Amino acid sequence: MRVRKLFRGFEEYGWETPSREIAARVGLSVDRIVRLDTNASPFRPEAALTDLGRVLDGLEVNQYPDTSYADLAEGLSAYTGKEADRLVVTNGADEGLDIVTKVLLDPGDQVVVPAPTYSMYRIASSIMGARVVSVPRRGDFGLDVEKMLGAVTKKTKAVFLCNPNNPTGNHSPEEEVERLARESGVAVVVDEAYFEFCGRSSIDLTDGLDNVIVCRTLSKAFSMAGVRVGYLVAKAETTRALNLVRPPNSLSVISLFLGRAALDHQDEMRRNVRTTVRERERLLKRLGEIKGVEPFPSQANFVLFRVAGGDADAVHRTLMARGLVLRNLSRTKGVEGCLRTTVSTREVNDRLAEELENALSALSER
Ligand code: PMP
Repeated sequence: MRVRKLFRGFEEYGWETPSREIAARVGLSVDRIVRLDTNASPFRPEAALTDLGRVLDGLEVNQYPDTSYADLAEGLSAYTGKEADRLVVTNGADEGLDIVTKVLLDPGDQVVVPAPTYSMYRIASSIMGARVVSVPRRGDFGLDVEKMLGAVTKKTKAVFLCNPNNPTGNHSPEEEVERLARESGVAVVVDEAYFEFCGRSSIDLTDGLDNVIVCRTLSKAFSMAGVRVGYLVAKAETTRALNLVRPPNSLSVISLFLGRAALDHQDEMRRNVRTTVRERERLLKRLGEIKGVEPFPSQANFVLFRVAGGDADAVHRTLMARGLVLRNLSRTKGVEGCLRTTVSTREVNDRLAEELENALSALSER
């Protein structure tokens, strides 16, 4: 089989190693593996699952879902304060990004991405044959707005922003997002996967500007990474364009039900977010007390930290051997020597800090 030319030398998504495989590698049982590498929630969406249990018997899984996703869109409309025709429900935020690139990009087009950031902007854009122009973030991981605007050419069709940014955790002010949208004139896609942990959003820009698309998900704050529900928010004329390529049935009847139920129980989500934010600040303080660890402030549900002495790989390996799986960013440009950990429960966060401290003191004794 001959694949498209663009896949020659293609840098694909670095799939997370399955827990089973890690367990076998480090000689632990699979239930001892703690995933701190995916920024998923440590909490289960209890109320939504209870609701699902109640209706499970009658759920018409033999039928296709309502392809308008009207019920879920109504819930999202109430949650976001934007009319349902300004929302596109997607199978996770990743499908939202996929839809955006399909609508916007022709082969040979360019996109501007501030680096380091979430890798799917590069991957989805490259698959469309577009060239990705990376603009390095400043030393404090803030956007270099001037350089980004300077990187926009006639061929540029989109700018991707992750806010708060994965993997650095910082939030860029709404004014910077607005300036990029107004002055670049091209589509500005604002990925707000982590917005609930920060509380600030650029969603209101979509009321007036037809080139702003906000991308969100129920995977993080709503504890539904395994359910696969995301959504795009834009002006109605923009969502009409996005709907041109939206697959009709990419959400299951079960996902649609759970997504809607999650929105009916926002109090539970808000409680979990408050707990996570509290834990994030506690973890940051604790990590800051460990010699050889430099944590960066975060507005999301994860924390990035630098390991002194170029030992990030060794620390990552040592923690993995103890069943704690972090994201290794030691070779990612702009965050060299860094690891990223998801903020988990108090118990897990304490354990992580302790194991990290042990790993570093063992390394310093070599
Ligand atoms: N955007 C960002 C910034 C993310 O970190 C992630 C997941 N890690 C996604 C999008 C994808 O989210 P979803 O589970 O909704 O596809």
